Amino acid sequence: MALEGKNIKIRFLSDLKEGETAVITRVKGYGAFRKRIGEMGFVFGTVVKVIKKAPLLDPVEYEVMGYRVSLRKSETELIEVVTEEEALTLDERSFEGTITIEHLRETVREKGKTINVALVGNPNCGKTTLFNLATGRHEKVGNYGGVTVDTKTAHLQRNGYEINFTDLPGTYSISEYSPEELYVRQHLTNELPDVVVNVIDSSNLERNLYLTTQLIDMNIKVIIALNMYDELDKSGAKFNYIELGKMIGIPIIPTIASKGKGIDELLDEIITMDEEREPVFRHIHISYGSHINLAIEKVSEEIRKVKTITDKYHAHYAALKLLEDDSIFISEVESIGNTNDIIERARKERVKLEKEFNEKSSSLIADAKYAFIRGALKETFSPGNKVSSDKSHSPDKFLTHKWLGFPIFLLFMWAMFQATFTLGSYPVNWIDNAVSWFSDFVGSTMAEGPLRDLIIDGIIGGVGGVIVFLPNILILFFCISLMEDTGYMARAAFIMDRLMHKIGLHGKSFIPLLMGFGCNVPAIMATRTLESRKDRLLTMMIIPFMSCSARLPVYVLLISAFFLKNQGLVLLSVYLIGVLVAVVTALLFNKIFFAKKEAPFVMELPPYRVPTIRNTAIHMWDKSVQYLSKMGSVILVASILIWALGYFPRDKEQSATQPSTEQISENISGSSSVETASETTDVEILQQSEHIENSYIGRIGHFIEPVIAPLGFDWKIGVSIVTGLAAKEIVVGSMGILYQSDLAADETSVNLQTKLQQQTYNKGAKVGQKVFTPLVAFTFMVFVLLYFPCIAVIAAIRREAGNKWAVFVMFYTTLVAWLVAFGVFQIGSMF
Ligand code: GDP
Ligand code: MG
Repeated sequence: MALEGKNIKIRFLSDLKEGETAVITRVKGYGAFRKRIGEMGFVFGTVVKVIKKAPLLDPVEYEVMGYRVSLRKSETELIEVVTEEEALTLDERSFEGTITIEHLRETVREKGKTINVALVGNPNCGKTTLFNLATGRHEKVGNYGGVTVDTKTAHLQRNGYEINFTDLPGTYSISEYSPEELYVRQHLTNELPDVVVNVIDSSNLERNLYLTTQLIDMNIKVIIALNMYDELDKSGAKFNYIELGKMIGIPIIPTIASKGKGIDELLDEIITMDEEREPVFRHIHISYGSHINLAIEKVSEEIRKVKTITDKYHAHYAALKLLEDDSIFISEVESIGNTNDIIERARKERVKLEKEFNEKSSSLIADAKYAFIRGALKETFSPGNKVSSDKSHSPDKFLTHKWLGFPIFLLFMWAMFQATFTLGSYPVNWIDNAVSWFSDFVGSTMAEGPLRDLIIDGIIGGVGGVIVFLPNILILFFCISLMEDTGYMARAAFIMDRLMHKIGLHGKSFIPLLMGFGCNVPAIMATRTLESRKDRLLTMMIIPFMSCSARLPVYVLLISAFFLKNQGLVLLSVYLIGVLVAVVTALLFNKIFFAKKEAPFVMELPPYRVPTIRNTAIHMWDKSVQYLSKMGSVILVASILIWALGYFPRDKEQSATQPSTEQISENISGSSSVETASETTDVEILQQSEHIENSYIGRIGHFIEPVIAPLGFDWKIGVSIVTGLAAKEIVVGSMGILYQSDLAADETSVNLQTKLQQQTYNKGAKVGQKVFTPLVAFTFMVFVLLYFPCIAVIAAIRREAGNKWAVFVMFYTTLVAWLVAFGVFQIGSMF
């Protein structure tokens, strides 16, 4: 056929006059733009008619596939077309002045078979060699930087396509720093090649991939030509480039340009990409760390309001450029007009970042890119005998070492928990004493009555219960902030990654799970650092099975009372049951809810930094305030509720003669004001116990008795379980009242334990039998471990994942607790 693509003058939809009809031959622009425009019907081969141009030529109304749409000029400038008229003059076959839509389409199909390819890469990576080999041209090839000064184009025919190659100058980056860099960037954003081939020198992956991260940000079609593959082979390095390709969403083709190897595969891949048939290709978002990510999000929000920018650039990319303080990009945005808000927003965010890290935003972003590259290579690349020249990351030699990494990690974890609980225990005691003192003070100054009871038992008791844990939480958050700020946290995720993959999770999920042993609430909040929603949800679902510190007193009480031998082992087994249930849950949910396999992704390895006290303190404080304000309010409401359920209904006769009923609720609400209790007499305690049996909460206990009887629990255990809904610290306090222990100052546990050991049924079929056996105690521990975490955790899940998941966790954990406890009790009873 005589028609040759290159003879047709390229026209754009924006060039058409009113009433003209044309066929779309190509939609340019970056991925998201193309997708949106494509969804409106603007794809290859579609016939478009210009209906009406607005007075200011913007927007213009078109008819496409039978309906009308208006497009802005900035959009139509990216749509290549061929008109009826044009097709006529170019086609040698005569249509006698008339051309059918079919002819037009056929002509267009010929023209559409052009693929514009740009070669980009670092100097000396072999672009020109590749270009020459592919196109048969003979440009000068040199082994020193800067040989390719201007661009050269050449074309070749393959599978009915005409592929136009452009060899661009070599650059390490496409920022604004040198004319070459700017030139390459402008070629990419203005010429909009259909496919970009990123040539990479495989003997220097880390540096070469930097440019790749910039191409990823731009959301354009990229193929990597992994050139100098012979050098990589020679060095003995192992590189799973297929896996890397999947992680970064870019197909990677190994080539040896100097020997012509891999060129055919590369050309085929170019066609596959242009036809949008490449399964590996997808747009990924590089994670720049929570602070920069947040800034990008805020600036993007502003950018999305100005369509002229988003027609040309991916909003994230534009935000990143503005945050980098790229002066050329900024002036381009300024020239659009009406963009002051964007510029101002970006400036504010940039200043904030720079102040926080005390470093230029552009180098922060560059650091994050290298963190991404290092993370990607860590998982896919092991260098050969060539010694690593990378000095700044030498701690990684130990910290993520195959054998050493794990023990070192465990050591850090141990140190963290040790610090949290041992170091924390001193201030915990001070606060505990202060709360008791305050409680006594209020008790002695206020007149007796329900209001005093409410303030002392409901409010001070409840909120005091949370504040007491503040030192633990501060220390835990301090350690976590320290690990995050130094960059060790990312390494920990790495070390645990393989293990976590076995249960369908990701290494990063390990951190929140670990925090769960301290307190589930901050653990739930920590899931925010996970990128994929699936990982976030799944991690949240299993965190409640990590036995938090609030459950420990229950174990300690029961183990010391009923297990005289192997106490440590029994305790460990409880924790392990939690982990086991978590693993089974993860495997199960992976099958049911998250069956769709997700593409692998890169775990960043940020540079090690010396953390500043100021920064760590700020991060720690932020986390703590969040915890306190939100959890404080939930606990407050819950404690008041439980207090009221245990306080009412008031038996008038009794309350007149019985002054210390508040003792009951005081213990229930978990405040450990042990001192006041020591004065309580046995008679009073008996009365308290009777009162609680008649109170609403006692009735609830009796009401649920049939449900918990198969687990070997009596109604008092039932009440303790119900009070534990608010917070599990409360369980022991409730037991103390119900089983009539007087919780005398130093003999606390001895007394309660003996009481528990002596407790017998006084009604029903089991009269005279012991309530607690080691089996019942163990079953009870398992139940406390697994059931409903606490209101604060449910509130946290609700905030992070929504109502549906919060309700689901409530029922799921309780059901699992019942089933496992049932299994333990029934099987145990056989022996
Ligand atoms: P450019 O600066 O990216 O255009 O790189 P050139 O094409 O000028 O190549 C730089 C040098 O690398 C030349 O000496 C090439 O012969 C050599 N070269 C290119 N590709 C390969 C390859 O795959 N393997 C090896 N060993 N050398 C290559
Ligand atoms: Mg060159």
